[in-house]
Amino acid sequence: MFEKINTNNFYKKTKGLSIFVLSKNINMNNPKRYTITAALPYANGPLHLGHLAGVYIPADIYARFMRLNNQDVAFVCGSDEHGAAITLRAKKENTTPQEIVDRYHELNKNVFSDLGISFDIFHRTSSDLHKETAANYFKELAEKGAFTKKTSEQYYDEEYKQFLADRYITGDCPKCNAEGAYGDQCEKCGSDLSPLELINPKSTLSGKTPILKETSHWYLPMGEHEEWLKSWVKDGVLDGKKVHNPKEWKNQVVGQCMSWIDGGLHERAMTRDLDWGVKVPLKDAEGKVLYVWFDAPLGYISATKQWAKDNDKDWEPYWKSEDTKLVHFLAKDNIVFHTIIFPILLKTFGDHILPNNVPANEFLNLEGKKLSTSRNWAVWGHEYLEDFEGKQDALRYALTSIMPESKDSDFTWEDFQARNNNELVAVFGNFVNRTLVLTQKYYDGIVPERGELTDFDKEVLEELKALPHKIKKSVEAYRFREAMGEAMNMARLGNKYLADTEPWRLIKTDEKRVKTIMNIATQITANLTIAFEAFLPFTTQKLREMIGMDKLDWSFIGNDNLIEVGHKIGKSELLFSKIDNAQIEAQVAKLANSQEIEIDFPKQKDTIDFEDFTKLDIRVGEIIEAEKVKKAKKLLKLTVDTGLDKRIVVSGIAEHYTAEEVIGQKVSILMNLAPRKIRGVESQGMILMAENEKGELAFVAPTKDIITGGNVS
Ligand SMILES: [Zn+2]
Repeated sequence: MFEKINTNNFYKKTKGLSIFVLSKNINMNNPKRYTITAALPYANGPLHLGHLAGVYIPADIYARFMRLNNQDVAFVCGSDEHGAAITLRAKKENTTPQEIVDRYHELNKNVFSDLGISFDIFHRTSSDLHKETAANYFKELAEKGAFTKKTSEQYYDEEYKQFLADRYITGDCPKCNAEGAYGDQCEKCGSDLSPLELINPKSTLSGKTPILKETSHWYLPMGEHEEWLKSWVKDGVLDGKKVHNPKEWKNQVVGQCMSWIDGGLHERAMTRDLDWGVKVPLKDAEGKVLYVWFDAPLGYISATKQWAKDNDKDWEPYWKSEDTKLVHFLAKDNIVFHTIIFPILLKTFGDHILPNNVPANEFLNLEGKKLSTSRNWAVWGHEYLEDFEGKQDALRYALTSIMPESKDSDFTWEDFQARNNNELVAVFGNFVNRTLVLTQKYYDGIVPERGELTDFDKEVLEELKALPHKIKKSVEAYRFREAMGEAMNMARLGNKYLADTEPWRLIKTDEKRVKTIMNIATQITANLTIAFEAFLPFTTQKLREMIGMDKLDWSFIGNDNLIEVGHKIGKSELLFSKIDNAQIEAQVAKLANSQEIEIDFPKQKDTIDFEDFTKLDIRVGEIIEAEKVKKAKKLLKLTVDTGLDKRIVVSGIAEHYTAEEVIGQKVSILMNLAPRKIRGVESQGMILMAENEKGELAFVAPTKDIITGGNVS
């Protein structure tokens, strides 16, 4: 059932090309422009700290740093709004996929902007421009023979008359036997699965066992690309040209790519049977949309197009020019899509550049446990912003400090508090505050003149000159923890300088010396606005306003005369404030409460015959009187109208209902339970109650108006 489309033409073309351009190297040390992408967040749920630490904060630091260096930057992102998970969620919530993606696009967009993630554009894949872009790429790729059309049998829900995407099928995992594994993955053991492997497959639409039915799809024969991918990933060589330095790639990224390639690349369907997504722009493609991992990376290109359009620029150099540095930021679960599948598409399309680096991060854990949206074990970005107003940089600082750059790392509220209080407040904030307050106090805010420098002063200024080089080197190597650590060393340098020189003591004996000290402290403070610009943008802006200085680019850093003598600095405020124990305890308690309770349902009791069941006489009754049973916390004495009679029943519901609120309540009453005395009151029957996992009780009552005395059977 294979039908190959022109793959030969495409191969002749690329092979021919490589002869002409053999051994020409591209110098990426001085790119003309940067295209920086951050993985498109899926518009199916809110963002949590793992997303921020893993993808968006590192990407933002890099983009801000390059802009600070006057580079031409396009920092693009957007919502990924297609795929089966969104249609499933819409179904579950009884709404439309559009409503779901609108909701989360808005929510996530606001979190990004409130946290200072400086995208040049935050686009969306449900936009017309994106749909048109993705469809055109697919069409051209199909014409170039990039795909193989193939018919195979796939699961089909006869009741809903539709093919079932991977996420629409659940069953038992063939690897670990867990129930509820999806058609593409078992969340229990993490195995990648295909729908046909599932034991007892069930459609999530109808709940029925699906049938197998033939359907055609367009496949990307990835195996045909193994050779060039290998040399591109391992050696940074593409068509005979050195295009990147593989030593700059993270070990785990190269490792993951090579293990995929060495394991043999298989074909993968680039289309799906689904009614939500970008329609496949070919004949005989009725009811088919583009695979979400074909669609989503093209979202970077459509976002760039929209941004260029809005800013009167040409988008093409950002994706086609060899002097553009393309960098994809993402988490480790998306590596293969950005280092294998998307590059295959870009290269096959022709005249597009491939990523210069894919600095994927590992995962962030939360309080020692894996972050999980489905288990609600997460700190959500929008909730943090509500709970810690004005503390965006405290979060950016804490997350950058523990960024999972080379291995998984752990966020704890205690560590967050310590970093804020012991580092931002006690070092950075303390130094700046002392400098500005003393300058106000001694000189009315006028920056004093320096006198002769001591050896210690010279040492400090040397260190001030040396630190920026370290920061830059680390940022360029995608080591943001280290880079921010060096920026923090500049604040430490200043803090220690004041602690060692003690101008507040010296002022009584050596006024001239204090002028020199305060001038140097002011210069360090001014340098901090540049050093931290990429990391803590809210803080640097506030600090610039306090000193009364303009935003300066990176070429000024290390300069010990950033602020002129005679310049008047403004009023100082505290840069950071402490986070107290109560705030942290509240967050820890919130997490504990968010945990889904694991319920151990009791085993089913032994089977009974129908005759046994008919022995139970259950009827609909109405509570007409109620009062508390004296000296019994849990008991209510109820008078129940059963239609047959009015009888007394003692019920253990007093901790859940007051006597007043149950009067008039319809109930199910077991009539023929042998009467028994409870706390001196004879109870003639039993009221049926349902219990939830917290031990709360609810009446089992008819949902329609059934007359008192009606039978329950
Ligand atoms: Zn499993």
